Amino acid sequence: MSKKKTASNLSPRTQAIHGEFLSKSWEFSHHLIPPLTASTTFRLDSLERGAEGFSSFGASDSQKPIWIYDRLEEPTTKMLEDQLALLEKGECAVTFASGMGAIASTLMTLVSNNQKVVAHRTLYGCTYSLLTHWLPRFGIESAILDLQNRQALEAELADPKTRVVYFESVSNPILEIADLEQVVRSVKAANKKRSKENQIYTVVDNTFATPWSLRPLQWGIDFVIQSLTKNISGFGTEMGGAVIGPKSFEGPLRMARKDFGAIIHPYSAWHILVYGISTQAIRFEQQQETAGKVAKFLEAQSKVQSVTYPGLKSHPQARLARKYLKSPEGRFSPGTMISFQLKGDMKKCQRFVNDIAKNSYSITLAVSLGTTKTLIEVPGFMTHSAIPAEKQSESGIDPRAIRLSIGLESADDIIQDLQEALKRI
Ligand code: PLP
Repeated sequence: MSKKKTASNLSPRTQAIHGEFLSKSWEFSHHLIPPLTASTTFRLDSLERGAEGFSSFGASDSQKPIWIYDRLEEPTTKMLEDQLALLEKGECAVTFASGMGAIASTLMTLVSNNQKVVAHRTLYGCTYSLLTHWLPRFGIESAILDLQNRQALEAELADPKTRVVYFESVSNPILEIADLEQVVRSVKAANKKRSKENQIYTVVDNTFATPWSLRPLQWGIDFVIQSLTKNISGFGTEMGGAVIGPKSFEGPLRMARKDFGAIIHPYSAWHILVYGISTQAIRFEQQQETAGKVAKFLEAQSKVQSVTYPGLKSHPQARLARKYLKSPEGRFSPGTMISFQLKGDMKKCQRFVNDIAKNSYSITLAVSLGTTKTLIEVPGFMTHSAIPAEKQSESGIDPRAIRLSIGLESADDIIQDLQEALKRI
């Protein structure tokens, strides 16, 4: 049984509900909802089939995988991967236990010892820690710089050791917008002078934007990372990560996942597929509308020093935001994250955040983002504390900056909670 139309002709909103309809990975035709499989190991009909399963594992042209063992591949996860590839408009997706599992495995796949990752100066704290603490132990260097400085980037691209350029499309936590086209142009020019084996790859963490706001592969980026834990999953119940990229890397990425072991649990894959992806458009758009109202409210408050939100005219890269942040249907899509600073010192910030933690109904002091509940945190002391205090200003992080991830509550209630806390400081 098959549908008459193929998914690629339909709107992403509809694709997010139906995917490819019937998966090549699983034989079911009468379920309305894809089945959740959970078997750590799979029955094999013969030794020959088992041997073929092992020898064909990771081959990018394997149309119908031979299921062997959960850590290699399994059907529910594969259905999620097909759906993610469709939404990011990529050739293939490989999922992981978390966003960090995806980032670490992708970098370990693309870079070897005596090679280098060039990364933007503002990064999620654990990514910074991976680049500066763990990878150097395996002889992988990192150069952390402002990628908007084209000269500095091109100097690093000229270094034969450089193999990856890594950045966040909308940076965590300061919401800088990367100029994807400019980076791709510089990397392409450098690659022209390099052999096929020595090409530099671009890897973009698109977690803040999600495919609902930006699809980096369409701008010529090679690999997109998603922490599925965030808005794609959306309800704050699952952890997961994914990399979406060229088919030629599917095998190596699956091998890395097999050997490093950071697999997503099928239960989480199923929840992200069935509940997360199919409701993301509607959640994201609602949260984004509220984020716009909250950002405007904050900007008008006398106790607030500055607000960074890509939808505000005052955003330092408002032009880049309008260029890159677009829904699949072409509407400006500035996202659901806000960063702001209060006037005054760290003590003031502390009093405000503690007041919210104690008294607010609709805003919760907690890390993570993209959930149905509005979350507040102070990155310099929490999510980005892996970046040493003296390095945070080089990363553009002010310790007093407060990060808000807007949820599905009413905008008026969130604003009221902020207003009351502002009054009390
Ligand atoms: N990338 C960004 C931008 C993040 O904010 C996070 C987590 O907060 C991650 C990656 C890591 O994701 P996970 O927590 O799923 O490992």
